[in-house]
Amino acid sequence: MKIAMIGSGYVGLVSGACFADFGHQVVCVDKDAGKIEKLNQNVMPIYEPGLDNLVQRNVENNRLSFSTDLAGSLVDCDAVFIAVGTPSRRGDGHADLSYVYAATEEIADAITKRTVVVTKSTVPVGTGDEVELILSKKLNRDQFAVVSNPEFLREGAAIGDFKRPDRIVIGVEDDWAQDVMSEIYRPLFLNESPILFTGRRTAELTKYAANAFLATKITFINEIADLCEKVGADVQEVSRGIGLDNRIGAKFLHAGPGYGGSCFPKDTLALLKTAQDNDSPVRIVEAVVQVNDNRKRAMGRKVVHALGGEARGKKVALLGLTFKPNTDDMRDAPSIAIAQTLMDAGADVSAYDPEGMEVAAEIMPNVTMANSSYEAAIDADAVVIVTEWDAFRALDLQKLASTMSGKTLVDLRNIYNHADVSKSGLEYTSIGRS
Ligand code: NAD
Repeated sequence: MKIAMIGSGYVGLVSGACFADFGHQVVCVDKDAGKIEKLNQNVMPIYEPGLDNLVQRNVENNRLSFSTDLAGSLVDCDAVFIAVGTPSRRGDGHADLSYVYAATEEIADAITKRTVVVTKSTVPVGTGDEVELILSKKLNRDQFAVVSNPEFLREGAAIGDFKRPDRIVIGVEDDWAQDVMSEIYRPLFLNESPILFTGRRTAELTKYAANAFLATKITFINEIADLCEKVGADVQEVSRGIGLDNRIGAKFLHAGPGYGGSCFPKDTLALLKTAQDNDSPVRIVEAVVQVNDNRKRAMGRKVVHALGGEARGKKVALLGLTFKPNTDDMRDAPSIAIAQTLMDAGADVSAYDPEGMEVAAEIMPNVTMANSSYEAAIDADAVVIVTEWDAFRALDLQKLASTMSGKTLVDLRNIYNHADVSKSGLEYTSIGRS
């Protein structure tokens, strides 16, 4: 199959490289010339474990190429995937579909044979209908089919998720397009990954329902963690106690500073907008969004509390800035609100992150970036673990304590325990554990 991937970001690049690895002929297109230039020099524009090797292997085997030329890339394609961003629209939380529709307009001008146009971007219910309308203004109805194929990969584990997915959801209305999609995913079909063929609107909604459910699970355990602190219970034991129940499942039950990232915040808001527009409220998700928004700044206040209630003139070191480990993605990371709350309270903030500091430095110009955890901790009154990178799981706590001027360690990911930390002389605060 000949495939074009429009948008070479976290999703488009990983999906395109994985499709090439399945044996398809793939061109990844992006309008960001700098990104394409880097890719053509085998420099990855994002940090994703294993991506550089995967890309290099498929480029060398002439199955994967990169281009800024959308029209040229679509010649003779069997399928074109739209994997552009769908950020929150300012003001109402609806997904901003301008990139999707702009790409669709370009596709309409460039298709040379009967082609399946696939939305891989996360798009609200009905977007496929709109894409179809745009295409049908310039193309005959038998020249194309519009399919929804939402992506469920997780940054940091994206290649494994793409190649060994829990399921693939394909919303398709035309038999011939279903055949093309089956052929594209045939290697996974042979692996017995479940492939769900649904209506297009169902596929679109499935993605939002999945993300809203996961966001709900995280927010639920975060509120239970707060209750644990009040009543002297341990949230990690509660998580285990409920997670071993097959009906609940252990994943997404780690209490922390609130969800962030490029998907959950915008996707929960977009689902609320769809629900509102259709007069069918999803009150659980409304509560989740509100609780999670409050939580991020509450974590900053938790640090101030651990400092004895006063942060003015004190130094706080943040370890981990990205919204989760193994990515450089800073979009909606809890660290942003936490750093701001601390600075608003008068603290000086330093930080270290293994991969995210380049982007973080632009977002947080008033935070001093350090070259290591220990450098960030020099003269700090408090060290705060914000993101659970492996590099922070085995810190030399005595060395850390000796560089600090204070004794406060706030662990917002529960990667240490009280007994181990107290041996170093540090005073330990964590989430949901008394
Ligand atoms: P991204 O911002 O990393 O990448 C989008 C890319 O599209 C950018 O490089 C941009 O330059 C390019 N682009 C925009 N318009 C274009 C056009 N007309 N022609 C060519 N290129 C164009 O975004 P992302 O994180 O990869 O997300 C893409 C979509 O996938 C979003 O809808 C997102 O919600 C969804 N998604 C993301 C993840 C994730 O973990 N990041 C997971 C599942 C789904």
